[in-house]
Amino acid sequence: MPTVRFLALEQTMGRKPNNFKAPESRVSEYFGSHVFNIKAMREYMTSEAFKAVVDAMENGSKISRGVADQVASGMKAWALNLGATHYTHWFQPLTGSTAEKHDSFFEPTGNGEAMEKFSGGMLVQQEPDASSFPNGGIRNTFEARGYTAWDPTSPAFVFGSTLCIPTVFVSYTGEALDYKTPLLRALQAVDSASTAVCKYFDKSVTKVNATLGWEQEYFLVDEAYFHARPDLMLAGRALVGHAPAKGQQLDDHYFGSIPERAIEFMKELEYESRILGIPVKTRHNEVAPAQYEFAPVFEEANVAVDHNSLFMDLMEKVSRRHDFRVLLHEKPFANINGSGKHNNWSLATNTGVNLLAPGSTPMSNLMFLTFFVNSIKAVHRHADLIRASIGSAGNEHRLGANEAPPAIISVFIGTQLSRVLDQLENIEGGKMTPDQKTDLKLNVVGKIPDVLLDNTDRNRTSPFAFTGNKFELRAAGSASNCAQPMTVLNSAMAQQLIEFKIDVDALIDNEGLKKDEAIFSILKRYIKESKAIRFEGDGYGDAWKAEAAKRGLTNEPSTPRALDAYISEQSLSLFKHLGVMSNREAEARHEILLESYFMKIQIESRVLGDLAGNHIVPTAIKYQNTLIDNVQRLKDIMDADTFNRVAKEQLEMIKDISARISQILGSKEAMVQERKKANLMEDMRDRAIAYHDHVKPYFEVIRYESDKLELMIDDEQWPLPKFREMLYTR
Ligand code: ADP
Ligand code: MG
Repeated sequence: MPTVRFLALEQTMGRKPNNFKAPESRVSEYFGSHVFNIKAMREYMTSEAFKAVVDAMENGSKISRGVADQVASGMKAWALNLGATHYTHWFQPLTGSTAEKHDSFFEPTGNGEAMEKFSGGMLVQQEPDASSFPNGGIRNTFEARGYTAWDPTSPAFVFGSTLCIPTVFVSYTGEALDYKTPLLRALQAVDSASTAVCKYFDKSVTKVNATLGWEQEYFLVDEAYFHARPDLMLAGRALVGHAPAKGQQLDDHYFGSIPERAIEFMKELEYESRILGIPVKTRHNEVAPAQYEFAPVFEEANVAVDHNSLFMDLMEKVSRRHDFRVLLHEKPFANINGSGKHNNWSLATNTGVNLLAPGSTPMSNLMFLTFFVNSIKAVHRHADLIRASIGSAGNEHRLGANEAPPAIISVFIGTQLSRVLDQLENIEGGKMTPDQKTDLKLNVVGKIPDVLLDNTDRNRTSPFAFTGNKFELRAAGSASNCAQPMTVLNSAMAQQLIEFKIDVDALIDNEGLKKDEAIFSILKRYIKESKAIRFEGDGYGDAWKAEAAKRGLTNEPSTPRALDAYISEQSLSLFKHLGVMSNREAEARHEILLESYFMKIQIESRVLGDLAGNHIVPTAIKYQNTLIDNVQRLKDIMDADTFNRVAKEQLEMIKDISARISQILGSKEAMVQERKKANLMEDMRDRAIAYHDHVKPYFEVIRYESDKLELMIDDEQWPLPKFREMLYTR
């Protein structure tokens, strides 16, 4: 009987690219065709409804029930024209994927006939029976209902035959049970705080949007291999497997030509994304073999987050049409580069100004510096919370593993801007002479655009880097929902800007400083206060760990401990004062994150136990028996001297295999005992820490022995697809 692995090999060898042809030739002709966007709304809605929705989108105003009915009827007509038969409230529960429950438009009218029905009530609010989503104790049984409510700031879309309406998901008592709710509140907070600060420079600014451009890394493996590896199927990563003889050391895959089968998948994914209005723009190979990246043009952060969630869902669906599976896990293959999701972040005004891009006048540059320095200060203050916001079981393999930023949060700004901040730090604070002001504006602030043009220094080891006109949070994991870091970052920024305004106004009102003098004074102080977070060197080096410790920066590689920052007094007060999350909501979220951590490690541990017991050990025993048979027969046909000489290595091998089998079985049993102990712990934090400290370490031990066995055992008998097969299939 051939092993499952050989059946998989056979299937993959016959694969041809599954050619994809988009129906129309130009992207501009079909981009957004399945989105209920401004154009569609104008066409399908009354002008009263249209105005109300635009007002809700731009100013967050409420939509009355009557108008909601009009919106629903327009939406229904539009969706039916695109062939929709069902509608769903589409939301992002804290499970990490998107959720939908489809209802048909069809409704019997009672006289044996039927009609398509969709009312304002159905659009605005639903009560999905979703009581088994994680809620961190917020919903006990008597308030078990959860509601979804329409988010008009993210447009509805038709996917397949379903009208999808982006919604928030909250408990009966209005508490957030999803990613979107706190994000929307944080975006609201950063909007009002930024707008208030913008007024120092430009009175016409009335709204500021946070912008997000994500870069999604992923692996593609052939579906046959995926099915032959229980660990990929159930845990999303290979729990055992030796790295191939040829890995990424030649750098020949990075930005190389994309294999044809992968290209066809990408083309279809791009098409599906674009009709849904996701502005995907770049696609390329990544560092590891079989690793790729997609990046869109940036968008308003809430829409960008929805688009990323939708995109991850599409990746999964479209990959199957090409006999691939997408691996979104942060570290599917040990000793091979992992996957991240860079979050490029900035703030944009309704007047079209990017607040993190230097301008062309001293005044606009002072505005840039204001937002720039406040960003650094915000990250300095909430570094631990930012670290917590990117913490997960999967990302734990990346952070600090010399391929991704370390678990220490720091900010890289480049030598040019470092020099500007150093100069500002050394100015005289307080009142200035006209000469001093002119000098400052011309020689420091006025010089910024020129210096940034030749800003070639990019530091790939920094978790939070300034890249010319935005910050790039590089530490986020590929499988994560961007809403988490975006909620934290924008909250931190909002709080920072609120305090900045208070500080500046105090100098103006109490000390009679002019506006620009006051701004310079405060920036000078902030630059000093947040200096410890700035780091321009090698983030991977051990020297940085020592230096960071001296600076008082946290370095917490364990996820369950890093998550403590969610409920530190400082974080709770941040969320509470901005109205982003109540203490109860933050505590519930913390609980859910811990629970998800422990469950993921628990699943991995069980799968690894199965692999060891049902695949690896039996294979090793079989092979060992072949060796024993062989040695026995040699003995039969040889004199003792010859036998002792020629059978020595094989006898060693038999002993070696026995030792490894014993080590695997012993560790497996010990791991089960640790799991049992951990499972008895009532406190979720204790349990997650026990899984981290006492269960997870066995993964390495078992893997080490298994990978050695993989190298020793007859290739034909090894049951699991090997890394070289999964990573180099074309
Ligand atoms: P790299 O791979 O070098 O980091 P890319 O150009 O591939 O850079 O990706 C940059 C990402 O940053 C893109 O998604 C882009 O849309 C996004 N981006 C550019 N400007 C902004 C901005 N003002 N706000 C947010 N994201 C931005
Ligand atoms: Mg990047």
